[in-house]
Amino acid sequence: MKSFTYYQPTQIVFGNGGVNDVGELVATLGRRCLLVTGSPDSPPSFRKLFDAIKENLKNADITVEHFTGVIPNPTTDVVSAGAEMAKAFKADVILGVGGGSSMDTAKAIAVEATHTGTAWDYRWCSETQPTERTLPIVAIPTTAGTGSEVTQVAVLTNPKEKDTSAIYNDIIYPKIAIVDPELTLTVPSSVTSQTGFDVFTHAFESFLHPNASPFIEILAKKAITLVAENLPKVVKDGDNLESRECMALASTLAGLCIAHAGVTLPHGIGMTISGYCPKVPHGVALAVVYPEFTRYTYPFAPSKFADIGRLLDPSLENEPDEIAAESFCEIIDEFMKEINMWLDLESFGVTKEEIELIADHSQVLPDYKNNPRVATRDEIYEILMRSFSRK
Ligand code: NAD
Repeated sequence: MKSFTYYQPTQIVFGNGGVNDVGELVATLGRRCLLVTGSPDSPPSFRKLFDAIKENLKNADITVEHFTGVIPNPTTDVVSAGAEMAKAFKADVILGVGGGSSMDTAKAIAVEATHTGTAWDYRWCSETQPTERTLPIVAIPTTAGTGSEVTQVAVLTNPKEKDTSAIYNDIIYPKIAIVDPELTLTVPSSVTSQTGFDVFTHAFESFLHPNASPFIEILAKKAITLVAENLPKVVKDGDNLESRECMALASTLAGLCIAHAGVTLPHGIGMTISGYCPKVPHGVALAVVYPEFTRYTYPFAPSKFADIGRLLDPSLENEPDEIAAESFCEIIDEFMKEINMWLDLESFGVTKEEIELIADHSQVLPDYKNNPRVATRDEIYEILMRSFSRK
C-alpha cells in the first residue's frame, strides 16, 4: 500500500446551528475581528445572518469591523481594500463568511494585512511566502462547494494581468471551520448546481491525482457517493435539509481531498477561463470542459475511472475496466444534464479569440501536469473548442 502522511490543522465544527457558537470560537483566537463577506443585501437573507453573527461576536466581548466588498472570483483590488481595513482596525483575527469567494478573500486579507506588498506577491509560484505573522482565519461556508474552509488555498484574480492564481501555503489553513448546513438552505438552484458540481470535481480529480493516498481515496469515494445521491435532490428542492447536510459534508470531505492530493486538468483550464472571463462562475468553468476532459483522460487511467463508474452504477461490477471507464463518461454526462450543468462556453459569452488565449495560458498553473494524461497546449485548445457549443 502507498505510504502517506496526513496533516490537517483546521478544527472542524460540523452541524446545524453551529454558527451560534461563532463568538465563543473566535474568542479563542482574538478580540478584534474583521468579518469578511459579500454585500449584506445579496441575497437579502445575508443581512439577517451577518447581523446575528455580529451580535454573537459582541456578546463574546469581541470588537467587530465588517468588510462587505467580496465579489465572486475575488480580485486583488478587493483584497487590498479589505487588508487596508484590517490594518486600520488592527484586526487580530479574520472571519470569512460566504462561499469560496468570501473565505478566500479572508485568507488573502490575513496575508496582505501582515506582510509587505500585496497578497498577489505571495502566491504559490513566488519566492516570498506568507509567514507566521499571517492573522488567524475562521471560515464559515454558506455554499456546499469549494471546501475552502479546510484548505491551504486562496484563489485570486488579477484583472490587470488577466490571471487567476492562488496562494498555497499551510499558514492559511483556517484555524477553525464552522460548517453549518442550515446556512446553505438559501442557495438558489443554479448556484446549488454549480457549487455542488465543484464538490464532485474536487473529489474526482483528487482521486485521479498522483498524490492520492489510500486515505484520500476513501474520503473522495464517500464525497462522490454523497454528491451523486444528494445533489439532484437539492437542485430540485432546496429546502431538503437532510440532503443539504450530506452536501455540506461532501464539500468538506472533498476540500480535505484537494488539500492533500490536488486537482488536475479541468481546474488548470477552468481557473484560466475565470482569469480571462471573470463572469464565468467557478463551477461553470469546470462543467464546460468536463465531457471532453473525461473522454480525453479515461484511456490513461482506466482502473480509476472504472472504479468510480462502478461506484455510481453497480451493474458495471463485472465489466472489464475499459468498458466501465467508458461508461463512467456517459454516467457523468447524464448526471450533468440532471443537475442542469450541461453547459458550453458560447452560452457564457466566451469567444473563440478568448479560447486561443485561454489555451495559451492553461499550462501556467501546474494542475494539468497531475492529470493521468498530460495535455499539450494544442490538445487543451481542442478540448476548449469542442466545449464551445454543446446543443
Ligand atoms: P461564491 O463564493 O462566488 O458565491 C457564489 C454566489 O452565491 C454569490 O453571489 C454569493 O453571494 C451566493 N451565495 C453564497 N452563499 C449563499 C447562500 N447561503 N444563499 C444565497 N446565496 C449565496 O461561489 P463558490 O463557488 O462558493 O466559490 C467560488 C470561489 O472559490 C472561486 O473564486 C473559486 O476559484 C474559489 N475556490 C477556492 C477553493 C479553495 O480551496 N480555496 C477551492 C475551489 C474554489
